[in-house]
Amino acid sequence: MGDGVLTGIGEGVHAWVQPDGTWWINNAGMVCDGDEVALIDTCATRKRTERFLAAVREVAGPAPIRFAVNTHLHGDHCYGNALLPAETAIAGHSKTRDGLLADVLLTAAPPVWSPMPDFGVDAVRPPTVIVDSSLTLYVGERRVELVHPGYAAHTEGDVVAWLPDSGVLFAGDLLFHGITPMILMGSLAGALRSLRWLADFGAATVVPGHGPVIHDLAPVLDAHERYYRFIEATAVAGRAAGKSPLAVATDADLGEFADWPDPERVVLNLHRAYADLDGRPVDLVGALTDAITWNGGPLHCAV
Ligand SMILES: [Zn+2]
Repeated sequence: MGDGVLTGIGEGVHAWVQPDGTWWINNAGMVCDGDEVALIDTCATRKRTERFLAAVREVAGPAPIRFAVNTHLHGDHCYGNALLPAETAIAGHSKTRDGLLADVLLTAAPPVWSPMPDFGVDAVRPPTVIVDSSLTLYVGERRVELVHPGYAAHTEGDVVAWLPDSGVLFAGDLLFHGITPMILMGSLAGALRSLRWLADFGAATVVPGHGPVIHDLAPVLDAHERYYRFIEATAVAGRAAGKSPLAVATDADLGEFADWPDPERVVLNLHRAYADLDGRPVDLVGALTDAITWNGGPLHCAV
Protein backbone atom coordinates (compact mmCIF):
# COMPACT_ATOMS: atom_id res chain seq x y z
CA MET A 1 0.00 0.00 0.00
CA GLY A 2 1.51 3.32 -1.04
CA ASP A 3 1.60 5.87 1.75
CA GLY A 4 0.29 9.37 1.30
CA VAL A 5 2.64 12.32 1.34
CA LEU A 6 1.73 15.82 2.52
CA THR A 7 3.46 18.11 0.06
CA GLY A 8 3.74 21.88 0.44
CA ILE A 9 2.51 23.56 -2.74
CA GLY A 10 2.20 27.13 -1.51
CA GLU A 11 2.39 29.18 1.70
CA GLY A 12 0.21 27.22 4.12
CA VAL A 13 -1.17 25.01 1.33
CA HIS A 14 -0.51 21.29 1.18
CA ALA A 15 -1.60 18.45 -1.07
CA TRP A 16 -2.13 14.98 0.40
CA VAL A 17 -1.13 12.80 -2.53
CA GLN A 18 -1.68 9.07 -2.25
CA PRO A 19 0.05 6.85 -4.79
CA ASP A 20 -0.91 5.18 -7.00
CA GLY A 21 -4.19 7.04 -7.33
CA THR A 22 -6.19 4.04 -8.56
CA TRP A 23 -9.66 2.95 -7.33
CA TRP A 24 -10.43 4.37 -3.84
CA ILE A 25 -6.96 6.00 -3.47
CA ASN A 26 -7.61 9.73 -3.71
CA ASN A 27 -5.86 13.02 -3.14
CA ALA A 28 -6.89 15.54 -0.51
CA GLY A 29 -5.47 18.80 0.81
CA MET A 30 -5.19 21.34 3.58
CA VAL A 31 -5.03 25.10 3.94
CA CYS A 32 -3.84 26.73 7.15
CA ASP A 33 -2.95 30.18 8.33
CA GLY A 34 -1.36 29.14 11.61
CA ASP A 35 -4.47 29.43 13.75
CA GLU A 36 -7.07 27.64 11.62
CA VAL A 37 -7.24 24.78 9.17
CA ALA A 38 -9.51 23.82 6.28
CA LEU A 39 -9.33 20.43 4.60
CA ILE A 40 -10.24 19.60 1.04
CA ASP A 41 -11.71 16.07 1.10
CA THR A 42 -10.91 13.16 3.39
CA CYS A 43 -10.02 9.57 2.44
CA ALA A 44 -11.82 6.30 1.80
CA THR A 45 -10.84 4.38 4.92
CA ARG A 46 -10.25 4.99 8.61
CA LYS A 47 -6.56 4.06 8.27
CA ARG A 48 -5.93 6.40 5.37
CA THR A 49 -7.87 9.27 6.93
CA GLU A 50 -6.05 8.83 10.25
CA ARG A 51 -2.72 9.07 8.42
CA PHE A 52 -3.89 12.20 6.61
CA LEU A 53 -5.08 13.82 9.85
CA ALA A 54 -1.81 12.91 11.63
CA ALA A 55 0.14 14.60 8.82
CA VAL A 56 -2.12 17.65 9.09
CA ARG A 57 -1.41 17.80 12.84
CA GLU A 58 2.34 17.69 12.21
CA VAL A 59 2.05 20.83 10.11
CA ALA A 60 -0.75 22.68 11.89
CA GLY A 61 -0.33 21.52 15.50
CA PRO A 62 -3.51 21.95 17.54
CA ALA A 63 -5.04 24.59 15.22
CA PRO A 64 -8.74 23.75 14.89
CA ILE A 65 -10.07 22.24 11.67
CA ARG A 66 -12.79 24.82 11.04
CA PHE A 67 -13.92 23.53 7.66
CA ALA A 68 -13.75 20.54 5.39
CA VAL A 69 -14.85 20.56 1.77
CA ASN A 70 -16.15 17.56 -0.17
CA THR A 71 -15.36 17.97 -3.87
CA HIS A 72 -18.06 15.39 -4.73
CA LEU A 73 -19.98 12.45 -3.33
CA HIS A 74 -17.63 9.53 -3.99
CA GLY A 75 -16.63 7.67 -0.84
CA ASP A 76 -12.90 7.86 -1.45
CA HIS A 77 -13.22 11.62 -0.90
CA CYS A 78 -15.90 11.56 1.83
CA TYR A 79 -16.05 8.46 4.02
CA GLY A 80 -13.29 9.84 6.26
CA ASN A 81 -15.61 12.76 7.15
CA ALA A 82 -16.78 10.57 10.02
CA LEU A 83 -13.37 11.00 11.71
CA LEU A 84 -13.38 14.80 11.65
CA PRO A 85 -13.93 16.73 14.88
CA ALA A 86 -17.61 17.32 15.64
CA GLU A 87 -17.12 21.09 15.38
CA THR A 88 -15.75 20.94 11.81
CA ALA A 89 -18.26 22.34 9.32
CA ILE A 90 -18.36 20.27 6.12
CA ALA A 91 -19.21 22.04 2.87
CA GLY A 92 -20.34 20.45 -0.38
CA HIS A 93 -22.95 20.52 -3.13
CA SER A 94 -26.54 19.48 -2.32
CA LYS A 95 -26.10 16.57 -4.75
CA THR A 96 -23.12 15.47 -2.67
CA ARG A 97 -25.16 15.65 0.51
CA ASP A 98 -28.12 13.81 -1.06
CA GLY A 99 -25.84 11.19 -2.61
CA LEU A 100 -24.06 10.49 0.65
CA LEU A 101 -27.33 10.22 2.53
CA ALA A 102 -28.42 7.61 -0.05
CA ASP A 103 -25.02 5.85 -0.05
CA VAL A 104 -25.11 2.05 -0.08
CA LEU A 105 -21.45 1.26 -0.79
CA LEU A 106 -20.12 1.99 2.70
CA THR A 107 -22.15 -0.67 4.47
CA ALA A 108 -23.45 -2.96 1.74
CA ALA A 109 -21.12 -2.78 -1.24
CA PRO A 110 -21.49 -5.54 -3.81
CA PRO A 111 -18.16 -7.29 -4.62
CA VAL A 112 -17.23 -4.94 -7.45
CA TRP A 113 -13.61 -4.56 -6.30
CA SER A 114 -11.04 -7.08 -5.13
CA PRO A 115 -10.17 -6.87 -2.38
CA MET A 116 -13.04 -4.78 -1.11
CA PRO A 117 -11.82 -1.74 0.85
CA ASP A 118 -11.90 -2.11 4.64
CA PHE A 119 -13.55 1.24 5.25
CA GLY A 120 -13.45 1.06 9.07
CA VAL A 121 -16.19 3.69 9.24
CA ASP A 122 -19.76 2.95 10.33
CA ALA A 123 -21.74 5.82 8.87
CA VAL A 124 -21.49 8.65 6.37
CA ARG A 125 -21.27 12.25 7.58
CA PRO A 126 -22.64 14.48 4.84
CA PRO A 127 -21.95 18.18 4.24
CA THR A 128 -24.13 20.57 6.24
CA VAL A 129 -23.01 23.73 4.43
CA ILE A 130 -24.35 23.68 0.89
CA VAL A 131 -22.46 25.05 -2.15
CA ASP A 132 -24.77 24.88 -5.16
CA SER A 133 -23.06 27.73 -7.00
CA SER A 134 -20.23 29.30 -4.99
CA LEU A 135 -19.19 30.00 -1.44
CA THR A 136 -16.17 31.77 0.05
CA LEU A 137 -14.49 30.54 3.22
CA TYR A 138 -11.90 32.44 5.21
CA VAL A 139 -9.28 30.34 6.94
CA GLY A 140 -7.84 33.08 9.11
CA GLU A 141 -7.03 35.65 6.42
CA ARG A 142 -6.83 33.03 3.65
CA ARG A 143 -9.56 33.20 1.06
CA VAL A 144 -10.83 29.83 -0.22
CA GLU A 145 -13.38 30.01 -3.02
CA LEU A 146 -15.60 26.96 -3.53
CA VAL A 147 -17.18 26.85 -6.98
CA HIS A 148 -19.53 24.46 -8.81
CA PRO A 149 -19.19 24.56 -12.62
CA GLY A 150 -22.96 24.94 -13.08
CA TYR A 151 -23.50 21.54 -14.75
CA ALA A 152 -22.71 17.85 -14.21
CA ALA A 153 -19.21 16.69 -15.18
CA HIS A 154 -17.51 14.00 -13.03
CA THR A 155 -20.68 13.95 -10.91
CA GLU A 156 -23.70 16.23 -10.62
CA GLY A 157 -22.24 18.01 -7.60
CA ASP A 158 -18.60 18.75 -8.35
CA VAL A 159 -17.03 21.60 -6.38
CA VAL A 160 -13.48 22.90 -6.78
CA ALA A 161 -11.51 24.85 -4.17
CA TRP A 162 -9.61 27.86 -5.53
CA LEU A 163 -7.01 29.76 -3.54
CA PRO A 164 -6.48 33.03 -5.39
CA ASP A 165 -3.62 34.20 -3.15
CA SER A 166 -1.48 31.17 -3.97
CA GLY A 167 -2.79 30.21 -7.41
CA VAL A 168 -3.67 26.70 -6.23
CA LEU A 169 -6.73 24.86 -7.52
CA PHE A 170 -8.04 21.67 -5.91
CA ALA A 171 -9.95 20.16 -8.84
CA GLY A 172 -11.32 16.98 -7.25
CA ASP A 173 -12.14 14.28 -9.77
CA LEU A 174 -12.69 16.73 -12.60
CA LEU A 175 -9.07 15.70 -13.24
CA PHE A 176 -7.30 12.34 -13.08
CA HIS A 177 -3.57 12.76 -13.74
CA GLY A 178 -2.20 9.79 -15.68
CA ILE A 179 -5.13 7.60 -14.62
CA THR A 180 -8.26 6.78 -16.61
CA PRO A 181 -10.90 9.49 -15.95
CA MET A 182 -14.40 8.46 -14.91
CA ILE A 183 -17.70 10.11 -15.83
CA LEU A 184 -20.18 7.30 -15.07
CA MET A 185 -22.14 9.47 -12.60
CA GLY A 186 -21.66 12.77 -14.43
CA SER A 187 -21.94 13.89 -18.06
CA LEU A 188 -19.72 13.49 -21.11
CA ALA A 189 -20.61 16.91 -22.50
CA GLY A 190 -20.16 18.46 -19.06
CA ALA A 191 -16.80 16.77 -18.53
CA LEU A 192 -15.60 18.19 -21.85
CA ARG A 193 -16.96 21.63 -21.03
CA SER A 194 -15.34 21.62 -17.59
CA LEU A 195 -11.83 21.46 -19.10
CA ARG A 196 -12.01 25.04 -20.42
CA TRP A 197 -13.64 26.14 -17.17
CA LEU A 198 -10.74 24.66 -15.17
CA ALA A 199 -8.18 26.33 -17.46
CA ASP A 200 -9.81 29.72 -16.91
CA PHE A 201 -8.82 29.79 -13.23
CA GLY A 202 -5.25 30.39 -14.45
CA ALA A 203 -3.90 28.19 -11.66
CA ALA A 204 -0.15 27.79 -11.19
CA THR A 205 -0.64 24.50 -9.37
CA VAL A 206 -3.53 22.05 -9.67
CA VAL A 207 -4.25 19.14 -7.34
CA PRO A 208 -6.19 16.47 -9.26
CA GLY A 209 -8.52 14.04 -7.49
CA HIS A 210 -6.13 11.20 -8.34
CA GLY A 211 -2.49 11.17 -9.48
CA PRO A 212 0.46 13.55 -9.04
CA VAL A 213 0.17 17.32 -8.52
CA ILE A 214 -0.02 19.19 -11.84
CA HIS A 215 2.34 22.09 -12.58
CA ASP A 216 1.69 22.23 -16.33
CA LEU A 217 -2.06 21.98 -16.82
CA ALA A 218 -2.42 22.33 -20.60
CA PRO A 219 -1.13 18.86 -21.60
CA VAL A 220 -3.24 17.26 -18.87
CA LEU A 221 -6.37 19.01 -20.14
CA ASP A 222 -5.47 17.99 -23.70
CA ALA A 223 -5.16 14.34 -22.66
CA HIS A 224 -8.58 14.48 -20.97
CA GLU A 225 -10.07 16.04 -24.10
CA ARG A 226 -8.61 13.36 -26.36
CA TYR A 227 -9.94 10.64 -24.05
CA TYR A 228 -13.42 12.14 -23.86
CA ARG A 229 -13.51 12.62 -27.65
CA PHE A 230 -12.48 8.96 -28.03
CA ILE A 231 -15.38 7.93 -25.75
CA GLU A 232 -17.75 10.18 -27.67
CA ALA A 233 -16.74 8.88 -31.11
CA THR A 234 -16.75 5.26 -29.94
CA ALA A 235 -20.21 5.63 -28.39
CA VAL A 236 -21.72 7.37 -31.42
CA ALA A 237 -20.36 4.73 -33.83
CA GLY A 238 -21.28 1.82 -31.56
CA ARG A 239 -24.78 3.05 -30.94
CA ALA A 240 -25.34 3.58 -34.68
CA ALA A 241 -24.21 -0.01 -35.24
CA GLY A 242 -26.65 -1.26 -32.61
CA LYS A 243 -23.90 -2.54 -30.32
CA SER A 244 -24.03 -2.55 -26.51
CA PRO A 245 -21.50 -0.50 -24.51
CA LEU A 246 -19.78 -3.75 -23.46
CA ALA A 247 -19.53 -5.01 -27.05
CA VAL A 248 -18.14 -1.68 -28.21
CA ALA A 249 -15.64 -1.57 -25.33
CA THR A 250 -14.53 -5.13 -26.10
CA ASP A 251 -13.83 -4.21 -29.73
CA ALA A 252 -12.28 -0.81 -28.97
CA ASP A 253 -8.56 -0.09 -29.28
CA LEU A 254 -7.63 2.07 -26.28
CA GLY A 255 -4.53 3.25 -28.11
CA GLU A 256 -2.60 5.86 -26.13
CA PHE A 257 -4.94 5.35 -23.15
CA ALA A 258 -4.23 1.61 -22.78
CA ASP A 259 -1.42 2.25 -20.30
CA TRP A 260 -3.50 4.37 -17.93
CA PRO A 261 -4.46 2.45 -14.76
CA ASP A 262 -8.11 1.41 -14.33
CA PRO A 263 -8.71 1.04 -18.11
CA GLU A 264 -12.00 -0.81 -17.47
CA ARG A 265 -13.54 2.60 -16.89
CA VAL A 266 -13.94 2.67 -20.66
CA VAL A 267 -17.02 0.50 -20.10
CA LEU A 268 -18.40 2.82 -17.43
CA ASN A 269 -17.72 5.89 -19.54
CA LEU A 270 -19.38 4.35 -22.60
CA HIS A 271 -22.44 3.53 -20.48
CA ARG A 272 -22.58 7.23 -19.54
CA ALA A 273 -22.13 8.33 -23.16
CA TYR A 274 -24.92 6.00 -24.33
CA ALA A 275 -27.25 7.20 -21.57
CA ASP A 276 -26.54 10.83 -22.48
CA LEU A 277 -27.18 10.12 -26.17
CA ASP A 278 -30.41 8.28 -25.30
CA GLY A 279 -31.49 10.98 -22.83
CA ARG A 280 -32.09 8.47 -20.03
CA PRO A 281 -30.58 7.78 -16.58
CA VAL A 282 -27.49 5.59 -16.55
CA ASP A 283 -27.79 1.97 -15.34
CA LEU A 284 -25.13 1.99 -12.59
CA VAL A 285 -25.43 -1.70 -11.70
CA GLY A 286 -25.44 -2.76 -15.35
CA ALA A 287 -22.41 -0.60 -16.07
CA LEU A 288 -20.39 -1.99 -13.14
CA THR A 289 -21.39 -5.54 -14.06
CA ASP A 290 -20.18 -4.96 -17.63
CA ALA A 291 -16.91 -3.45 -16.36
CA ILE A 292 -16.28 -6.61 -14.31
CA THR A 293 -17.00 -8.73 -17.39
CA TRP A 294 -14.62 -6.62 -19.52
CA ASN A 295 -11.98 -6.91 -16.80
CA GLY A 296 -12.38 -10.67 -16.42
CA GLY A 297 -13.23 -10.34 -12.72
CA PRO A 298 -13.66 -7.81 -9.92
CA LEU A 299 -11.81 -4.54 -10.39
CA HIS A 300 -8.27 -4.21 -9.05
CA CYS A 301 -8.17 -2.32 -5.76
CA ALA A 302 -5.03 -1.55 -3.76
CA VAL A 303 -6.59 0.51 -1.00
ZN1 LIG B 1 -14.82 10.53 -7.85
